[in-house]
Amino acid sequence: MAKLTVRDLNVNGKRVFMRVDYNVPLDEKDGQMVITDETRIKETLPTLRLLIEKGARLILAAHLGRPKGKREPSMSLRPVAARLAELLGCKVNFADDCIGEKVEKLAKELPPGGILLLENVRYYNEEEANDPAFAEKLAKVADVYVNDAFGAAHRAHASTEGVARIVAKRGGQCAAGLLMERELKFLGDELDKPARPFVVILGGAKVSDKIKVIDRLLDKADTILIGGAMAYTFKLAQGFKVGQSLVEKDKTDVALAALDKAKKRGVQFLLPTDNTCVTPVKTDKLDKKGRPVLDLTNPRTNADANIPDSEEGVDIGPATAAKYGEVLRSAKTVLWNGPMGIFEDKRFAVGTNAVAQAVVDATQKNGAKTIIGGGDSVKALNKAGLGDKVTFMSTGGGASLEFLEGAVLPGVAALSEK
Ligand code: AMP
Repeated sequence: MAKLTVRDLNVNGKRVFMRVDYNVPLDEKDGQMVITDETRIKETLPTLRLLIEKGARLILAAHLGRPKGKREPSMSLRPVAARLAELLGCKVNFADDCIGEKVEKLAKELPPGGILLLENVRYYNEEEANDPAFAEKLAKVADVYVNDAFGAAHRAHASTEGVARIVAKRGGQCAAGLLMERELKFLGDELDKPARPFVVILGGAKVSDKIKVIDRLLDKADTILIGGAMAYTFKLAQGFKVGQSLVEKDKTDVALAALDKAKKRGVQFLLPTDNTCVTPVKTDKLDKKGRPVLDLTNPRTNADANIPDSEEGVDIGPATAAKYGEVLRSAKTVLWNGPMGIFEDKRFAVGTNAVAQAVVDATQKNGAKTIIGGGDSVKALNKAGLGDKVTFMSTGGGASLEFLEGAVLPGVAALSEK
């Protein structure tokens, strides 16, 4: 059933507790924390403007970083309040706490159309624990609950789930913001009844991360295109040599089961036929996690189905990119999750960029609905300057993936039905 959205609300003079995703990157500059990417703040503006117009008294709650229950000054939301005020062109009050008398007083003083941003909810461990007493304290300033933080909806935390339950219990409404509404429309409704052909592109590091999505989409898609390191687990399962490529040796049975299901369902399931290979060479450097850094040397196209023992596959090859492009250009619905190679390195972003261009072409020349399922594929499209040329880019990472798996997200489940 469809969820209630902010469009359905009559909130004149009511206190609207709205969970937003203001988990923005910050950098310290001359002793001040400076926002380095304000996309997430900008994305909430349509919902905020609509609620201001409706005369709501807005109380915004969000988390920033992982302060683990401590008042970590570098993770304060204060800089966000200042930037939000500039973007909206109106006053944004800031409470240096998210619960307590001070917050209640500030909320009481808010005029219709006024905004109050609360301090980081994760300054309290009770937030992530979804502690009922803490949720009650948050809910003290909530007549109505709105959730516009899709990226946090897969977690049952106090501000994403607990408060909504309390408001609903009191007979109050719990609605999706406009951002959340779009996520549910594109990752949900549009993919439930896709225009065909429906082509799914899945890439990234691990089969184990994506197997539930693969399994669910095998019931819906006409074609599935596989890229990224994930492809090598499938290749290994089929008996090919994968050299030094990143594989999950213990997931070959899972890969074979997916191939078998595809065959039975008549889903075209394509794996790379060529790739870009490198020779990894050990260095004496360690990465952030203390693992040895490898130099990826001597990139070359490997047109053979097998990868030599000393080499590693790091991207799909040109023949695969051309084939995937051909399939994508005639698609009517496209869902993409996960890069085709180690796209963070320009040398190995060629396959991902070719797929990105083919997705854009499908959108613009074939009228396809193209949906980018969050995380690294969104980063890759933005890096290629193509972010605004697809139908929809999800703002969630883990949340998008869980939603695509068909999981019920606690933050969505807590919203009222229409
Ligand atoms: P995911 O979060 O599962 O979508 O995986 C994204 C990560 O997979 C990116 O950091 C890529 O660098 C990585 N990746 C993609 N292809 C490969 C590959 N062939 N070898 C190693 N890592 C890869």
